[in-house]
Amino acid sequence: MTRKIRIGNLFIGGDEPVMVQSMAATKTTDREATLRQVEMLHAAGAGIVRVAVDNKADVEALAWIKEQTQAQLSVDLQENYLLAELVAPFVAKFRYNPGHLHHLKPSQTTEEKVKWLVEIARRHGNAIRIGVNCGSVAPEILARFPDKEEAIVQSAVEHCRYMDELGFTDFCVSIKDSDPDTVIRVNQRFAELRPDVPLHLGVTEAGLPPGGVVKSRQAFEPLLAKGIGATLRVSLTLPFDDKHEEIRIGRQIVDDVKAGRFWNQKFATDGYNIISCPSCSRVENEKFIVLAQSVKALTEELGRRKMTIAVMGCRVNGPGETDDADLGLWCGPRTVNLKKGPLELGAWSYDEILAQLRQEIEKFPES
Ligand code: SF4
Repeated sequence: MTRKIRIGNLFIGGDEPVMVQSMAATKTTDREATLRQVEMLHAAGAGIVRVAVDNKADVEALAWIKEQTQAQLSVDLQENYLLAELVAPFVAKFRYNPGHLHHLKPSQTTEEKVKWLVEIARRHGNAIRIGVNCGSVAPEILARFPDKEEAIVQSAVEHCRYMDELGFTDFCVSIKDSDPDTVIRVNQRFAELRPDVPLHLGVTEAGLPPGGVVKSRQAFEPLLAKGIGATLRVSLTLPFDDKHEEIRIGRQIVDDVKAGRFWNQKFATDGYNIISCPSCSRVENEKFIVLAQSVKALTEELGRRKMTIAVMGCRVNGPGETDDADLGLWCGPRTVNLKKGPLELGAWSYDEILAQLRQEIEKFPES
């Protein structure tokens, strides 16, 4: 059994039930819309609601939202981990990505940066999530471990050791990927190495339902059945007003595993695999959700092909997280960028992109 950690007025790990959480998909600076989204997720049973914060205007909105809600809030720090100092007074937990710490303050060591984050968390009573993402592993870790999955796990283990050395215990770990089988392997491996640390489970860019639900179940069922996972998020590409579905489905998975009901389904890998992000405040154009739905509809019209198409909502994660797909789309404010593997093919308007995508898909052989 893992240790129990405190997140605001909640606990995860130990003998606590698995907590289901989600993230607001609205523009954080649209305070009223984000508050409505936070309240909707909270009312649906979200233990924690995450809000994206990238700049001071987002921090001001977060401060206002915090005053209006009883929900426990959390923030993901991406490249700009220095925002921790500004968001800490308003959140129960913040997440940093070990793979993004190298972008700022290059003269400081990773240990010094983690020490600074821990000092902030202590001052404000925050919990911390060490959020490793298979798509953004620290370059120096990759250089040390030739096996990428081992590098990913060791990155998390190393950061746990920093926490141990600092005597900080209110932390959990997540190791996420878009492939459910990878999620199973890396989380199992981590749980063997650090059985005391609570895990936050997630499949990134699981995509649209029903495929995204199948991928999430595929990863979560075997892990939860082994007692791995203290909290989870089902990341689905859904319209803003349907985001509470992530909570309903997450709770259903937890209840089903507890009752011994398993789907035991595997996402079919012999056809189109559409990975799409769940969208968040960073999404560049609200047409993103319809675009993801249209890509799925397009593939249903075309002959069967074994290929992966990634559809991402913004420039923060879009360019990197589409590299491994056969074809990748990532949204800009007025155009959508199209890639073939890591190769940029160009950018087209939201009206033109589907025709371009069709042409590129048809260059791949039918299976
Ligand atoms: S890809 Fe961008 S818009 Fe989509 S969830 Fe990630 S950060 Fe948000």
